[in-house]
Amino acid sequence: MRSRNHPTLAPIFNPTSVLSQNQMSSLLGHEKILELLKRYATDNRPAHAYLFSGRQGVGKKRAALEFACMINCPDFSAHDTLTSCNTCRRILCNTHPDIHIEQPERNLIRIDAIRKIISFIKYPPIETSYRFVIIDDAHLMNRSAQNALLKTLEEPPANRIIILVTSQPSSLLQTVRSRLRRISFGPLSDEHLEKLLSNSKDMSPEALNAALAMASGSIERALSKAAPKNVEFRRRVISTLFEKMDRAYFHLVELSAEAGTERVATDDLLEIAAGFLRDVIVTKLDSKAPLINADYEALIKRLVSANSLNRLMMAYDEILKASDRLDLDINLGKNLVLDVTFLKIEGILKRA
Ligand SMILES: [Zn+2]
Repeated sequence: MRSRNHPTLAPIFNPTSVLSQNQMSSLLGHEKILELLKRYATDNRPAHAYLFSGRQGVGKKRAALEFACMINCPDFSAHDTLTSCNTCRRILCNTHPDIHIEQPERNLIRIDAIRKIISFIKYPPIETSYRFVIIDDAHLMNRSAQNALLKTLEEPPANRIIILVTSQPSSLLQTVRSRLRRISFGPLSDEHLEKLLSNSKDMSPEALNAALAMASGSIERALSKAAPKNVEFRRRVISTLFEKMDRAYFHLVELSAEAGTERVATDDLLEIAAGFLRDVIVTKLDSKAPLINADYEALIKRLVSANSLNRLMMAYDEILKASDRLDLDINLGKNLVLDVTFLKIEGILKRA
């Protein structure tokens, strides 16, 4: 979801585009991502390359296939289940001539496989409007394979879409990642986590929310995030980034300066910010998906009224970029990365 690849966002979200429950049944928990993909599919200008990232086994590849259905189905909104349509059925079971799925062999995707992909991509779609290549476990491409793919990612022929699916996006070359629009898949088990957490006694609603917001699908992580110190940190990050306050810039600089001295967990900071913005975007899209930061519903609603979807997406994109830069582990101070990110977000978002 890099800013230079942003599609022209339709000014009004059309709620009738919501997928039917049957269509989504295999991807419960990713409704908001499916909505975004549906928007990309219907705005007639999808990006040519995507990175579907997220932990193992949450449905990224299935989402890639469903995206191919959304774009290529002759009448996607008319059928109740994906298996009720010949095109979608063949896409999903990988027998469609315009869809190529690449899987690693013995834990590696070699340059030979990429050469086959490149020649597949050269030919225009036969039956559909877009030819798709889905590279599963794309982090298992070795360096030469990734380099071989670069040129195609850079200058793809029209009407082709490449999706890299991975649980380890940081293992991809930055030159590859920077050419992809990133879609991040959260863990599937928020409801499950909430159930487990509700068994712990003495957990305040705010602690529960802090835990859920930073759990990344792990109950151990969730419990540690419910500690008072972490709950307070979450409160501070949200308020420093999003709330109307006096001397806002001073507080931003102070927060990023602490990251430079390692007193602040940068990953946690970015995760809180990304999770919060995701809630704002989900609310803006009028999705019925539950909020991670439900205790901040009032602030989320104020941000929704104050900001366009485009602004929200741009701010979200800055968080992802900061995360990428920090993954790179180059000799940039953490606080410098955060300074730049905060400044950009400050210029994009209207506080509420
Ligand atoms: Zn169909």
